[in-house]
Amino acid sequence: MMEQYQKIKDQYPDAFLFYRLGDFYEMFNEDAIKGSQLLELTLTNRNKNSKNPIPMCGVPHKAVQNYIDILVDQGYKVAICEQMEDPKLAKGMVKREVIQLVTPGTQFQTGSENAKENNYLTALVYDKISDDYGFAYVDLSTGELKTTLLDNADLVFNEVVSLASKETVISDDVPHSMRDSLSKFGILLSKQVIDPINSAMSYLTQGIEEKPLTQVLQMLISYVQTTQKRSLDHLKRAVRYEPSDFLEMDHNSQYNLELVKNIRTGKKAGTLLWLLDQTKTAMGGRKLKQWIERPLVNKKIINNRHEIVDVFVNHYFERNQLQDELIKVYDLERLSGRVAFGSVNGRDLIQLKTSLQQVPKIQYIISQIESKDLKPLVKQLEPLDDIVDLIEAAIEDDSPISVTDGGVIKDDYNDQLDKYRDATNNAQKWLAELEAKERELTGINNLKVGFNHVFGYYIEVTKVNLPKIPEGRYQRKQTLANAERFSTPELKEKEAMILEAQEQSKNLEYKLFVEVREEVKQQIKKIQALADAIAEVDVLQSFAAVAEEYRFVKPVLVDDHAIDIVDGRHPVVEKVLGHQQYVPNDVKLNQDTNVLLITGPNMSGKSTYMRQLALSVIMNQIGSFVPAKEAKMPIFDKIFTRIGAADDLISGQSTFMVEMKEANDAIENATPNSLILFDEIGRGTATYDGMSLAQAIIEYVHNNIGAKTLFSTHYHELTALDQTLSNLQNVHVGATESNGELVFLHKIQPGPADKSYGIHVAKLAGLPDKLLTRADKILNELQDKTAEDKVGISSMNAEPEHNNEKEEQISLFPLETVDEHQSEVISQLKRLDLMSKTPMEIMNQVYKWQQKIKKN
Ligand code: ADP
Repeated sequence: MMEQYQKIKDQYPDAFLFYRLGDFYEMFNEDAIKGSQLLELTLTNRNKNSKNPIPMCGVPHKAVQNYIDILVDQGYKVAICEQMEDPKLAKGMVKREVIQLVTPGTQFQTGSENAKENNYLTALVYDKISDDYGFAYVDLSTGELKTTLLDNADLVFNEVVSLASKETVISDDVPHSMRDSLSKFGILLSKQVIDPINSAMSYLTQGIEEKPLTQVLQMLISYVQTTQKRSLDHLKRAVRYEPSDFLEMDHNSQYNLELVKNIRTGKKAGTLLWLLDQTKTAMGGRKLKQWIERPLVNKKIINNRHEIVDVFVNHYFERNQLQDELIKVYDLERLSGRVAFGSVNGRDLIQLKTSLQQVPKIQYIISQIESKDLKPLVKQLEPLDDIVDLIEAAIEDDSPISVTDGGVIKDDYNDQLDKYRDATNNAQKWLAELEAKERELTGINNLKVGFNHVFGYYIEVTKVNLPKIPEGRYQRKQTLANAERFSTPELKEKEAMILEAQEQSKNLEYKLFVEVREEVKQQIKKIQALADAIAEVDVLQSFAAVAEEYRFVKPVLVDDHAIDIVDGRHPVVEKVLGHQQYVPNDVKLNQDTNVLLITGPNMSGKSTYMRQLALSVIMNQIGSFVPAKEAKMPIFDKIFTRIGAADDLISGQSTFMVEMKEANDAIENATPNSLILFDEIGRGTATYDGMSLAQAIIEYVHNNIGAKTLFSTHYHELTALDQTLSNLQNVHVGATESNGELVFLHKIQPGPADKSYGIHVAKLAGLPDKLLTRADKILNELQDKTAEDKVGISSMNAEPEHNNEKEEQISLFPLETVDEHQSEVISQLKRLDLMSKTPMEIMNQVYKWQQKIKKN
């Protein structure tokens, strides 16, 4: 057996081999040692007493899925090796084969919490001559297959990460640098040779000509075939897409804007997806997520979605009816996947039927609404009556889970089956009659006729009644503690008949079930098209429901470069804070204003304002209404963000490095139609360093790119840039003082912020009055000094005039009383940038100074 094991294991060196032995799947050797740790199983030994005991551990076959999921979720592969013949009937060694290789990218997420997410397996080939990458991805459960040509490594990385792919199939020529960055990101790489696909599957690549694309598709499909080893009839023909068909947004921006994943919790709550999701079907949920991750740039399609949302907003009753019907639609995409795999059971087919029965109702509701925009959808929602009728006629409504034990096919569906059933029913009647007859004959009232799997049919008589049995009437079969079981020749004959009828009936039922399944399989493409249309209706009704609930408005798409949003809101912050608490803000960037320089104290709402615009742009371009009273906006081609201070932990880069890389990405790739959001660029480095870079970046974007840019900063000096840059405007987030306390207004106002509020923030944090008075004084002195020095920003090449030598000369204490420590504290205090610190950081810093001065 171990020889057989080893032979199979050698074919799957990078997977755990689950080797079926009776009721268990066993692991051996290395697999057993590692597997027992990961799965918390007891490690034992095979051939304990021999010289070379073999480590082993096992899992019961009934619970195997659980264990597979645990391993695959952690990025491992599992090869399931089955017994291919009945061990009782096998001559010699039982035949075994791997029937499926489960991998992170091919795993079926069965749990309902994952129903609204895709699991994408990605694939990559590299073409040395053209220096292009052929890229493709597939979701095995829904059959979606897409491909594109990417001309640089960053784009590839971005696609893989944006799709949240856990596994990438690669060819040998994919460069090592690319492999490294993908593995570093925790993506499993699986090698596969590029084999031509067999003719039955060749339709999948029809219409795709370019070599890297056909190659990557061939490679991906072969990988799926070798791992799945089952029918893949539900795979849809590959669709070629271009990243430029969509609003370009790198994965950092998606992450920072919390589109589908909350940065803090990693969950959906608190994201744009969470806010917009009032879909009623799993397919709609998945489509919404896809749309959010891939907003459009095509004005016609965006407009069309807006129109439909508008119609749904205005047809409240129809929308409600629609929702009631949608809720009853099961996951048609995944059901058709299971049909193709041959893993559906009676219950699945009933779900399919119930779902398809909703289609005419959904179609009717939509067709009742007078709208030309809805016409194509009405057409797509063509009911599939023949499948409904077939399932209705054939499949029992409360089918059991198993498809081989009978009870799946309805009466009156098949004559032969009805005959078997009649025979069985008659036999049951005959048995009842036999019981009555024997009771009367023997006078034993509790005599009964029963059945068990080992001994078959029997007549049971309790011990006390045994003497009443006429001599030689029954033949003994089995002895129990207080009864004896018997048979008669007549009963034996009947038993053989009944069992045979039952066996044949089960076999016939299974055969009929498979026929129904195959017939459904012929219609998979149609079911998938329907599923797609239903998902679209679902997302659009969801947009309408959300628009109504949160008072969103239909945006007007403009062709000039002007944004005019009246009373815009950040929809997620508004939902969390409550409508009353949220202060709406306008975003006005006319054709001549490209850069908004936003100043204001920490925590005043600068970054919320910037995110608010980004989210509105994305919402607009997925076809949703936007959170505002009025909104006129152009279509953007790309969004670049530098928001938040998350270090790139995986590649080990510092915040500042990430910041500069993201800035560079924007500068290199932005066009006049792009949106750039830079939040506090430059704060990751020393003050003057940061300020100079910030200024240079603003100037560069302003003079060379012309993209709409929001730039928040705490460098007040930068606000003077409006003197030299004609397309730059200052705005600030208002704050006011009330009784010496700082009150954030969260209101965007024209012009630069005129005062530094750091000290007030420190006050809010409860720092002692004496300290604050002192800080105030120092601030005033510094400001005077700055005014004297006229720290220049007016020219592009201006070097900050401050230098350390000069700073040393500023004296805040009478010279004779200042010792070395105090002067160090003073110089640090001078350099401390209050606006970039949290109150706690200021508190800690002040504490350290105190300690220093006190000690001396
Ligand atoms: P900044 O970027 O200026 O430091 P944030 O944008 O992070 O400030 O906002 C700080 C907090 O202020 C947010 O968490 C939010 O609760 C609140 N806030 C921001 N904008 C608004 C607004 N328009 N209305 C109400 N509260 C807001």
